Amino acid sequence: MTHEAEEIVEDVKSYLEYLKGMGIETLPVSETTTQESSSASSPTLPSIQSLEEIRKELGDCKRCKLHRTRRTIVFGEGNPKATLMFIGEGPGYDEDVQGRPFVGKAGQLLTRIIQSINLQREEVYIANLVKCRPPGNRNPEPDEIRACSPFLLKQIQAISPKIICALGTFSAQTLLNTGASITSLRGREFDLQGIRLIPTFHPAYLLRYPARKKEVWEDMKRIQQWMANPIEK
Ligand code: URA
Repeated sequence: MTHEAEEIVEDVKSYLEYLKGMGIETLPVSETTTQESSSASSPTLPSIQSLEEIRKELGDCKRCKLHRTRRTIVFGEGNPKATLMFIGEGPGYDEDVQGRPFVGKAGQLLTRIIQSINLQREEVYIANLVKCRPPGNRNPEPDEIRACSPFLLKQIQAISPKIICALGTFSAQTLLNTGASITSLRGREFDLQGIRLIPTFHPAYLLRYPARKKEVWEDMKRIQQWMANPIEK
C-alpha cells in the first residue's frame, strides 16, 4: 500500500472511531449501493444533510424516554454557517417551555459570555447534547445521549464550525469520548476531526461558583484570539 493510501485508511479509521464515540454504530448503506457494490468492502460515509433536513429527520422524536416528559424539542439555534459553536448539556425548564437553547439564567450568562468576545448570539450556533429536557434537570443518561448524539453530530457536520466550545462535563466527555473530569479537560485544546474543541465550565456551574468565571474568560480570550488569527492545523 502506498503511503497516501495508508493515510487515507488511517483517516477513515479515525473517522469511524469518532462516529462510534458519538453513538453511531452502523453506517447507512442504501439499497442501490448494496446491490451495485456487493463485492466492495468500503463503507459509505453519511452524506451531509442541511439543518432543515436534520430537523425533519428528527421529527416528533421518541427515540428515548425523555420524549415522555418533554414539552418541546430544543433543536438548537443560531448561524447555520457559524465559525463558533457552543454545545451544552440539555434543555432546562425555560428552554423546554420556549423551545430554544440557553434562555434561562444560565443562558443569559452564556449570552453575556458570547458578547464578552464581541459576538452576538445570532452569530454563533448553540446546541445541546440532548434535545429534550431531562426531568427535574437531572443529568442526561447514557442511553439518552446515545439516542440523541447522532443528530448533534449531523448538526456539527452541517454547520462545519472551526471551533466548538463544549460547555460542562457531559458535553466535553461525550464529544471527546473520555471519562476525564471537566477540571482536567479545561485549559486544553483538542482536535475533533479538524475542529478545534475547547472545553470550559458550564454557565450553570459559574452561577454556583462565580470565582471560576476567570478561567472561562481565559478560554473565551483564547477563542477570540484564534478567531481573529486562525492558524489552520
Ligand atoms: N443548560 C444547558 O446545558 N443547555 C441549555 O439549553 C440550558 C441550560
